[in-house]
Order: sequence, then C-alpha cells, then structure tokens
Amino acid sequence: MTTKFRFAPSPTGYLHVGNARLALINWLMAKKSGGEMILRLDDTDTERSTAEYASAIEEDLRWLGLIWSELKRQSDRSAAYEAAFQTLKEAGRLYPCYETAEELEYCRKRQLARKQPPIYDRAALKLTEAEKAAFEVEGRKPHWRFLLDQSPIRWEDLVRGPVEVDGASMSDPVLIRSDGRPLYHLPSVIDDIDFGITHVIRGEDHVSNTALHIQIFAAMGASVPAFGHIPLLTGPDGGPLSKREGSASLREMRENGIEAMALVSLLARLGTSDNVEICHTLEEITAGFDISHFSRAAAKFDPNELANLNAKLLHGLDWAEVKDRLDLPGAGEDFWLAVRGNLTTLADAKSWWQVVTGPIEPVIEDADFLKTAATLLPEGDITAESWKIWTAAVKEKTGAKGKLLFLPLRLALTGQPHGPEMNNLLPLIGRDHILARLNGKTA
Ligand code: GLU
Repeated sequence: MTTKFRFAPSPTGYLHVGNARLALINWLMAKKSGGEMILRLDDTDTERSTAEYASAIEEDLRWLGLIWSELKRQSDRSAAYEAAFQTLKEAGRLYPCYETAEELEYCRKRQLARKQPPIYDRAALKLTEAEKAAFEVEGRKPHWRFLLDQSPIRWEDLVRGPVEVDGASMSDPVLIRSDGRPLYHLPSVIDDIDFGITHVIRGEDHVSNTALHIQIFAAMGASVPAFGHIPLLTGPDGGPLSKREGSASLREMRENGIEAMALVSLLARLGTSDNVEICHTLEEITAGFDISHFSRAAAKFDPNELANLNAKLLHGLDWAEVKDRLDLPGAGEDFWLAVRGNLTTLADAKSWWQVVTGPIEPVIEDADFLKTAATLLPEGDITAESWKIWTAAVKEKTGAKGKLLFLPLRLALTGQPHGPEMNNLLPLIGRDHILARLNGKTA
C-alpha cells in the first residue's frame, strides 16, 4: 500500500509552532513509508480565510523544507461536498433541523440544570412533514445533522493505542449550516476519501471528531484511514503556550533568527522518548523518527531550549552551508570559522563583520599600555600565531598577565569585553586597523 498523508491548516492566520509540529510529523511519516504528503487548505470559512495567509503557509512550509506533493483547496471542492450531502441524505443519515441558536442554547442549559449531559435530543427527527413545511413558510432554513449510530466507535490509534468512544455520548454533528455551507467535518472526510488519504495524523483536540468521522467514512461506503492523535504542546510550566513562548508565528521565529533545522530538530523529538539532537538534514531526522515513541502526555515547548539548540546548530555549521545566506560581501571561511562559536543567530555575524572591517570605537582604558603594545606587534603578516607571540612580548615588557593583559587589548581592538578568540580575529582585523585602534582611533 502506498501511503498518503495530509497537512490541513486553515488559512485564517500564520502557522505557529504547533502547526509546524503536525506538518513535520506528517511529512516524516510520509517520507519514512515511501509515501507522500499533500497540503490541504481548509478554507471553507470564507470570512476568515485569506489568500495572504494561504501563501504564507506555503512559504513557511518551504522554509522548513516540508514540501508537499499536491496542493488542494477546499474552496474548489463544493461540488464534491454537495454530492456527498445528497448521498448521505438519500441514505437517511442526514436530517433537517430548524432550531435557532437560542433554542439550542436554552435546551442545553435545561439539560445541564437537570444534571443531564448536553447532548442534542434529536427533536428534529420527530418533526412531521407539516411542521417542517410550517418552518419553511416562516422563512427558517434547516441545518443538517448527521444521524450517529449510537454504538461504540473503536480504532487503534497510532499514538494512543486502542480508543473507544461511545456513539451515544455525542450529539449528532451539524454537517451543513442553514446557509447551505458545510462545516469542517464533511469536507474533511470527503477530501480524505477522494484524495486517497491512508493516514490522518492530527492534534489530540480532534479525538472526538475522529469518532464522528469514522462513522461518516462508513456511511459513505469508504474505507477508514489510520488515525494518530498527537498530544498538544504546552508552555515550559505546563500551562497553555503564551505568545512569547511559542504561539508566536513561524515567521516571527524566522525573523528572530531561528534556523529551520533547529526548530525541526526540536519538534521531531519533543514529547517522544528520544533525545533531542541537532540534525542538519530532514533525511537524518527521518531515519530516527518513529511515531510510536510519542508519549500520551502533553509536551513542553521551551523557547530557551530552542534558542540554545539554535546556537548549537550555528556553532557547528560549515562555511558551505551558510555562505549563500550570510550576505556579507568579502566575508570568507576564515571569518565564519572565527565567529560562528559566538553566534546566537546568524544575524549576529553582521556585528562581528563590523568589528573586523570597521569602523568601530575602540575602548581605551590605559593609553600608555596600548601604545607600548603597538610597538611590539610582530612584523610581517598577521597570522593565527601572531596573537600568542604578540601577547607574550607585551607580557614580558609590561609584566601584565591574565585578564590584565588580554582584556585591554580585546577592548581596544573589538570595543567589547567578550567575543571570538583573538588569535582568529587578529588576522582578520589586519595590521592597519590594529595599530589605529591601539592608538585610540575610530577605525
Ligand atoms: N483545519 C483543521 C485544523 O487545523 C484540520 C484538522 C484535520 O487535520 O483534519 O484543525
């Protein structure tokens, strides 16, 4: 069997870390099983869906490297939903209901007051043809509910193991609104059938939807795909994700310098029994990925962990992997190797390039000490050995050692108390700039 997965976001906002995690898991499972993942835009909510969000979703997925085999839009599929509506109606699985939202709310409150579960009482099933006609004359348009089979619904969940939901514990779901538009359930199931989806991997918030969907698949005479429900992400303290923590959009993360591979490395392992480790390619992640390693507990997403992983990833990146992205004309491999260990984001490289090429404002604490040091700078080319030779000479001449020797030189040459190893920076800064800065000049 060839496998087919889908990632089905609604283009009503930018993708966030929780969406990225589901896209990634679907993509990895498709890759691992030699199958494919389609991108399905759930854009039936025409008031909230926008073309801008739809193209942002594509852009964000491309950034992560999660390329889909086909793009489908639910807004193109109304004929298929209309046909399914007719099929289900003819099969006696859809029935018209005329209650207003207020009437339904009133029933719900009454049930709760009587300590009964707030399940739709199927009053509409008992309507006579005359009563229905009377509602129509009144101008009421029906919404359509799916008649659930009130028996246990079971499936073997790829994450949760055996799941059983009692059909009698749920309200018959509304599939079609009174304005004729289908709600989420029907398009989702019909698309999964028509596109030959073999695996539906989505968030745990969809468990009860899955119970409904399994009955709709059966009512349509279609085979039921495999399901897996991934526990949701929480913030580091176990509470809901706050904006600062990770409900931030992928584009915000990207703008803040998060590397796609850092995010992907974390999300592939978060909530599993596997250790988080830096991976440089999606292929590497695919090899070690197994959905059965996901725990049933919610996973904590910690932005600090992501930031640390991001830095660690940058520290190990080769020049070839960054040279096209650095956008610092003149910068070469020696510069990258000198500074990469000091980066939190790739954009930080820019400030070190400024230190190397100038101008910077030197920080001068003891002008005489620096003037003496300037006279001792080794002749000839400044190389990776120069710093050692130079500081040994300065130490011998002035008696300064340790921090008292190194810090004033670093402050004068870089304007900062911390940074990359000076032996690597020195050749990049070059003799002219070194001498100028030691003399207190902006250079
Ligand atoms: N658009 C739905 C969501 O984002 C899709 C759920 C599903 O995967 O079926 O929750």
